[in-house]
Amino acid sequence: MKIILVTGARPDFIKIAPLLNALNRPPVIDPVLVNAGQCDDWRMCGLIFHQLAIPVPDINLSVDGGSLASQYAAVIMRFESLLMEQRPDCVLVVGNVHRAIACVLIAAKMRIKVIHVEAGLRSFDRSMPEETNRVLTDSLSDLLFCSEQSAIENLRREGIPESKICFAGNLIADTLAHNREKAQISKILSALEIGDSPYAVVTVHHRSNLESGALSGIISAMKTIGREMPVIFPMHPRTRAQLSVSEMQSNSSHIKFIDPLGYLDFIKLVSSAKAVFTDSGGVQEETTILNVPCLTLQAKTDRPCTVEMGSNLVVGTDPDAIVEGYRCSQNRVRKAAKIPPLWDGMAAQRIAETIATVYC
Ligand code: UDP
Repeated sequence: MKIILVTGARPDFIKIAPLLNALNRPPVIDPVLVNAGQCDDWRMCGLIFHQLAIPVPDINLSVDGGSLASQYAAVIMRFESLLMEQRPDCVLVVGNVHRAIACVLIAAKMRIKVIHVEAGLRSFDRSMPEETNRVLTDSLSDLLFCSEQSAIENLRREGIPESKICFAGNLIADTLAHNREKAQISKILSALEIGDSPYAVVTVHHRSNLESGALSGIISAMKTIGREMPVIFPMHPRTRAQLSVSEMQSNSSHIKFIDPLGYLDFIKLVSSAKAVFTDSGGVQEETTILNVPCLTLQAKTDRPCTVEMGSNLVVGTDPDAIVEGYRCSQNRVRKAAKIPPLWDGMAAQRIAETIATVYC
């Protein structure tokens, strides 16, 4: 059985690593890795590929920038040719990027089975581009793997038949489980001259924050936090392009702007942080497992279990609300980590076994 795995951006690579391993195990499945992402993402992720031992993609769609419509059109045309040539039994996508939905659309039209991993997550905010991508992908999928209970309930509410839904757990948790110990030997804290002192981490790159002007409010809040401890800001290339030189020259307020980190360094940095400010879904999940206070820089989260477990507070992007949320998170009594059901490092194996049972 041939399965095409589509990746489009950084979190997809991190999720695909354990899945590729698990799919390679039963010899009945022949996985083909197709990267639909942009060159910028690809360049940023070189170290992640190396550290997670992900093989170089079998095929790169090589579609670069341009308007959203031209990117969709180019991805659909190239993926259609690829599907005709490769004739896979299934196409599998993880997550929610624009390019994945373009691949899903043409696969479904060609009556190729579609599998969505990380299905059913909803923020219920259609102004967030990920939300429409998720709803569309889920409605076109034949097999939907969920990472948390809320996702199953969302799919049921949208009328997805029970027979298509599978509670598998979380691939981000798998990758973290397999690499957590390795990350501990990272030298990132000494490289950043942090030592044993307290510090915070911030990541921001979602379009809803970059295109709404929210970034300057976030920076203003980070300057306030930066008076108490250094704030380390690994910048996504999209975010760097938005920040003015003057905003980045804020050394006096102790914001340290750095390039995106490799996976192991990033996990080490997050594990020892006093607080993490982020608009990243994956980082909300990782901080839950690592039991590090997380402040989500979005109006809503599509991972409500991270809030239920107690590590995540959704604070939005208003500078006062961010600072207040931070103080509140630090005043809370730190309880032992609560890990959501099935975030046990075995999700990839469950997914591979289910695919083999259903389609082989
Ligand atoms: N990450 C990384 N280096 C960084 C920042 C993040 O390796 O400098 C990892 C992080 O550990 C997580 C993933 O990237 O697993 C999250 O990806 P991203 O924030 O790009 O996407 P999202 O989760 O928001 O979809």
